Amino acid sequence: MALALEGSTCYNEGMMIRGRTTREPSAARRDLLGLTLKQLEEWFRELGEPAYRARQVYNWIYKHLVTDFAAMSNLPLSLREHLAREATIGQVTVRSEQHSKDDRTRKILLELADGRLIESVLMLYPPLRGSSARATVCVSSQAGCAFGCTFCATGQMGFERHLSAGEIVAQVLHFARELRAAPWRARGLPGSQPIDHITNLVLMGMGEPLHNYDNVMQALRILNSPEGFNLGARHMTVSTVGLPQGIRRLSQEGLQVNLAISLHAPNDELRAQTMPVTRKYPLAEVLAACQDYIAATRRQVTFEYVLLAGVNDSPVCAHQLGELLAPLKQYAHVNCIPVNKTAADYRPPGPEAIRRFRDILFQHGVSNSVRAERGDDIDAACGQLRTRFVAQQRSPLARSNTAEPARSR
Ligand code: SAH
Ligand code: SF4
Repeated sequence: MALALEGSTCYNEGMMIRGRTTREPSAARRDLLGLTLKQLEEWFRELGEPAYRARQVYNWIYKHLVTDFAAMSNLPLSLREHLAREATIGQVTVRSEQHSKDDRTRKILLELADGRLIESVLMLYPPLRGSSARATVCVSSQAGCAFGCTFCATGQMGFERHLSAGEIVAQVLHFARELRAAPWRARGLPGSQPIDHITNLVLMGMGEPLHNYDNVMQALRILNSPEGFNLGARHMTVSTVGLPQGIRRLSQEGLQVNLAISLHAPNDELRAQTMPVTRKYPLAEVLAACQDYIAATRRQVTFEYVLLAGVNDSPVCAHQLGELLAPLKQYAHVNCIPVNKTAADYRPPGPEAIRRFRDILFQHGVSNSVRAERGDDIDAACGQLRTRFVAQQRSPLARSNTAEPARSR
């Protein structure tokens, strides 16, 4: 990924491997997290149950955040037992966790039903200048990724498979339950209100969301449903490597989600060196799709720009970027992101170079921000936790003693 995390020092103590829990094979069971309320009602009709029963189940899953049909006390026992045999509330298992020392960032490694591994992150933000505290979940949309960006740990794994809508929803519910059970309050801010729910969702984990378009949209609609989780579309962000058809499709959905485009270079030649997708979709095509998106939605587009020292952070690059985005006027915003360290040999620029880059963008009238250092001390870029976990599982020491905590470095 790609996560919105900063800092790269590992924090071994915060990481543990949970034992594999025994699970019944779930392949044949229906994952209810992948269904809209309407689809759940249809399924209940097929079971010979009235629609209001489906609404009760939806309420238990998304309002009460239960994980077990046995807890659904207003359902007849026979129906609860039937559901437990035929359905699941998610099909993911936590295999490893990291918490930053300040507990503002929590990262989990999830095992899917077929054994594949994905990462999700919870980022907690204290109340700032009158605004409320935020709890942002960063989810994966695929296991691996087909696009092979050179600075991205996930990109170096290759593509494994798309996630189902239920697998995307499950990542959000995991953290929602965690916060419900133990609301978070920023240390050192005694008067501040604790936060007990998810406020924002970003698709900036492993994978390319627009490559898994239908399942991603299904997940967003489920999470947006007022009868269910009820997370506002304006609090959701889809981040894409820049797939023009997907960008245009998104503009027609009537769902007011935010769009972020991973640009990372101001010209095709430079971009192709780090982002192979550029050979298929040159910048002109990506920008044309963004123009259409803006015309259809009147919404601002964020352009993510991972700053790689000595690669794309020069004043020349800043001028080119300013010229490239100037036609989009106030509809373009650049988010400068000092690169997180991965196995690849990239370094973030120093503060002076970042300030110079941003000043040039301002001269071109392009609004911009820099992703704030969070002072995190856990594996920064997404894909790293999984990479380390897999390497650790393969090592002879790990195989001989699986109860040992993982050693990240
Ligand atoms: N595939 C989508 C979404 C996942 S990546 C996309 O590329 O947009 C989310 C963001 O993290 C992207 O902007 C991506 O380029 C960025 N990213 C990837 N590796 C990174 C790294 N090592 N440091 C900082 N950002 C990174
Ligand atoms: Fe990583 Fe996104 Fe590029 Fe895929 S498209 S390799 S997830 S940055």
